[in-house]
Amino acid sequence: MNVDCLFCKIIAGEIPASIIHEDSQLVVFKDIDPQAPQHFLIVPKKHIATTLDLTADDNDLVGHIYQTAGKLARDLGFADEGFRVVNNCNDAGGQTVWHLHFHLLGGRSMTWPPG
Ligand code: AMP
Ligand code: ZN
Repeated sequence: MNVDCLFCKIIAGEIPASIIHEDSQLVVFKDIDPQAPQHFLIVPKKHIATTLDLTADDNDLVGHIYQTAGKLARDLGFADEGFRVVNNCNDAGGQTVWHLHFHLLGGRSMTWPPG
């Protein structure tokens, strides 16, 4: 745990969040400022600051994140219509919280290119 990290505090239960899934490697909770009718953050319990900090030790974790994204999209009923999984990395990528996370967005048609 990084004591200065917002998502580490949510994982530790020190800050409340609407958690919809938790397992040994991940928590998933509702984004506080949703950009789609369904907007969740898939967050590894391990503090990893950005995508650039991933190592080969994290390969199973990243696979598990994508498997979980698909399972949640199915369970929540928006898999077949389509959805988006997004990771923002560093400032120009739009990252604002420095603990790796993947946005799971669904419930509307997405546009491309993203803003
Ligand atoms: P990013 O900009 O990709 O780093 O995503 C960070 C996300 O965290 C944003 O979509 C925020 O709305 C969301 N967020 C910030 N604080 C909280 C919080 N306390 N609970 C849930 N989501 C949050
Ligand atoms: Zn953290």
